[in-house]
Amino acid sequence: MRVVVVGAGVVGTAAAWFLAKAGHEVTVVERRDGAGLETSFANGGQVSACHAEPWANPATPRKILKWLGREDAPLLFRWRRWDPALWAWGLRFLANCTAGRAAVNTERTLRIAVYSRHCLQALRAETGLAYDQRAKGILHIYRDGAEFEHACRAAEVMRRHGLDRLVKTPAECLAIEPALATAADDLAGGIHTPDDESGDAHKFTAGLAALAAGFGVEFRYGSTVLGLVREANRVTGVVTDRGTLTADVYLLAAGSWSPLLARAIGIRLPIVPAKGYSLTVPVDGHAGAPTVSVTDDEHKMVYSRLGERLRIAGTAEMTGLDASLNPNRWKVLLTKARCLFPDGGDYSQAEPWAGLRPVTPDSVPILGATPLRNLWLDTGHGTLGWTMSCGSGRVLADLISGRTPEIDVKGLGLGRF
Ligand SMILES: Cc1cc2nc3c(=O)[nH]c(=O)nc-3n(C[C@H](O)[C@H](O)[C@H](O)COP(=O)(O)OP(=O)(O)OC[C@H]3O[C@@H](n4cnc5c(N)ncnc54)[C@H](O)[C@@H]3O)c2cc1C
Repeated sequence: MRVVVVGAGVVGTAAAWFLAKAGHEVTVVERRDGAGLETSFANGGQVSACHAEPWANPATPRKILKWLGREDAPLLFRWRRWDPALWAWGLRFLANCTAGRAAVNTERTLRIAVYSRHCLQALRAETGLAYDQRAKGILHIYRDGAEFEHACRAAEVMRRHGLDRLVKTPAECLAIEPALATAADDLAGGIHTPDDESGDAHKFTAGLAALAAGFGVEFRYGSTVLGLVREANRVTGVVTDRGTLTADVYLLAAGSWSPLLARAIGIRLPIVPAKGYSLTVPVDGHAGAPTVSVTDDEHKMVYSRLGERLRIAGTAEMTGLDASLNPNRWKVLLTKARCLFPDGGDYSQAEPWAGLRPVTPDSVPILGATPLRNLWLDTGHGTLGWTMSCGSGRVLADLISGRTPEIDVKGLGLGRF
């Protein structure tokens, strides 16, 4: 079949790869001049399957209230904006903050995230694709005793899902990552997930796009999709600023911009952009940069070593489709990084970046069919798009090919809203 994929982020590119491998004739339309230049460009780099937990959980509303109005808040809602879609999303988000909903959503995200890590590892073995990956696990650190105890209880639940979340004392955290020495006295403990990984999502996406192009996928960069053409219950074309493309099947993988394109043809996607920031710092001979990917749970910040660079990422701000850099926000990352890893790199050379995570109210991506016969969705991957990209692409390739996916896709589609 001829398939047009809209969007060459990590999600669309992975889908294009698996669709081509399934024998389809694939064209990817991307407005930027290459693959992975939007939200997939400078993210936290974690392939964090064992920590795939929803934002919406019973503890979140209390935290949001505590952080309200604080410019350094890890999660900041700018409610002043009159944005009905954001308010509707917020109500759905709150409805997902019960223990029961969080348990359902955790199972769903884990199902796709763990499968995705498996697909990524298989893809790497098959292609030899290199992207500064590290398979040394992810270490979550806690300073607050109550938060740590909560994390230990969550680790117990995860073990029931068959995931290795190992509880560590402060001394054991230091043995895993000696660069944490400065924070040692403040640590309450840590949780190590040895099966998780990290790597450069942009290098991965650009590399995979090159491999896919070699495999016959056509990437139309610098082409903006102006709209999808709907006739009755199907899509008949994609109008771009460089002409109209037609295909048998269309896959929407445009991240935070997916709702705009979908709404114009009558499909509402409950996805809002959550702006996050990162800094990329050259390690430059500094001896105190971590080599294991670390998550500072209290500040909701991640640190990933990408070759000779240290990536620092975090914060979420609901502020619409605006990826501008607010120095008040990214300087928070810089201050906290300097404090945790004082000799982590040349912080004077830190490169700030912001990206818009496409977030659903339940933190589960939207994968699968739509009410339109030949339009499919691979979007809404939120905080874990890099982690879930390969599994999502594989699932979509199977569904579009009429094959049964290797995982159960119940609860992952648009029908749940
Ligand atoms: C600060 C930060 C840290 C993060 N850390 C992690 C992490 O550690 N691990 C993890 O798994 N995830 C992480 N994420 C989330 C992850 O980066 C995203 O979920 C993922 O990049 C989303 O990929 P995507 O392909 O759906 O979207 P994008 O990468 O945004 O791709 C969508 C593409 O569609 C294109 N597009 C949009 N509209 C049009 C149009 N009209 N015409 C043509 N093209 C169009 C865009 O140009 C873009 O290239 C982080 C995100 C942020 C912001």
